Amino acid sequence: MTTQITKAFGADSSDKPMHALEITRRSLLAHDVEMDILYCGICHSDLHAVKNDWGNTDYPLVPGHEIIGKITSVGEHVTKFKIGDIAAIGCIVDSCNSCEYCEDDLEQFCDEGVTYSFGSPDKVSGGNTFGGFSESYVCNEQYVLKMPSFDNLAAAAPLLCAGITVYSPLKHWQVSGKKIGVLGMGGLGHVAIKIAKAMGAEVVVFTRSESKLEDAKRLGADEVVLSTDQAQMESYARKLHFILDTVSAKHDINAYLNLLKHDGSVVVVGLPPEPIEVNAFSIVNGRRSVSGSNIGSIAETQEMLEFCAQHNIAAEVELINIHQVNEAFERLEAGDVRYRFVVDMASLKS
Ligand code: NAP
Ligand code: ZN
Ligand code: ZN
Repeated sequence: MTTQITKAFGADSSDKPMHALEITRRSLLAHDVEMDILYCGICHSDLHAVKNDWGNTDYPLVPGHEIIGKITSVGEHVTKFKIGDIAAIGCIVDSCNSCEYCEDDLEQFCDEGVTYSFGSPDKVSGGNTFGGFSESYVCNEQYVLKMPSFDNLAAAAPLLCAGITVYSPLKHWQVSGKKIGVLGMGGLGHVAIKIAKAMGAEVVVFTRSESKLEDAKRLGADEVVLSTDQAQMESYARKLHFILDTVSAKHDINAYLNLLKHDGSVVVVGLPPEPIEVNAFSIVNGRRSVSGSNIGSIAETQEMLEFCAQHNIAAEVELINIHQVNEAFERLEAGDVRYRFVVDMASLKS
């Protein structure tokens, strides 16, 4: 397989700053497109991976999986895209295409393991996949999304992971007309408020950050609870049908299970490295459930992009250049971001 050298930005280890490096990408296969990357969002999963929080990171690691770009070449059998199209790549770049999940448009649960856009064994090119902190990406067109029109393209980049990760469970658990909670108002949480409102839910935000209370309302939340205030928490006992848990660090899920009505669910999308400990009494009482959800399929991601474009939903972003990435990761870890960093990838070329 022929390859090409591509500029990128990534990590060699968990404890040293990320820096400029070179990677190889495959030359175009018949169903591949190549995109020049314009914007790439920074998700807390990028931070978990760079820091090896989950204990499974292979270095060198090039993060980035909220990717928007312009198509610069197309393989001979490509039908979905032409040169010059604005397109996007999210979390998934390959799957087996033949298991029951892939056949049901649920390739995020592929029996053979989905190939993520960064840090995942690459079944086509060998080695590991390299993410969007790079000049360009080469990907089978099947996993590339068409971008509907957004006023601010940079602000749409976070939809590729944050957007689909919250859209999929909000749709699956049918939140329309229900009173629901969004736990954690970071990258995922702030987009969840907007999408849940557009789906017709009544939204209560739970945040530990006093400084976010006003923003929660501005973004559309009906009510907001300071989760460190015991009295406020207790006043929501048995009030909610559903809670989306986006928290990235260890926390007590039982405190939120107790806020559910009977048959309600806390759906976990946050991925703290520590196990989640459920007290049996929290679920036995009220027949409550703890569930989880992993991103969403390519078809559902396309549907989510159309939904967000139609409802004028995008992220609140701080646009940075690639040389500010290490500082941005530190600020993300410290909870100091309102509400998603997006890298202007033109800065990698200069
Ligand atoms: P983020 O921007 O850092 O937001 C996480 C939020 O969690 C913070 O803003 C904070 O909200 C809250 N939080 C953080 N530490 C906390 C603590 N110790 N106790 C209570 N609350 C705390 O991260 P993100 O990009 O939204 O990602 C969130 C999580 O989802 C990460 O673990 C990420 O890996 C995971 N993720 C999962 C999927 C999936 O498919 N399942 C996809 C993408 C991301 P407040 O300040 O409002 O309290
Ligand atoms: Zn992500
Ligand atoms: Zn499969």
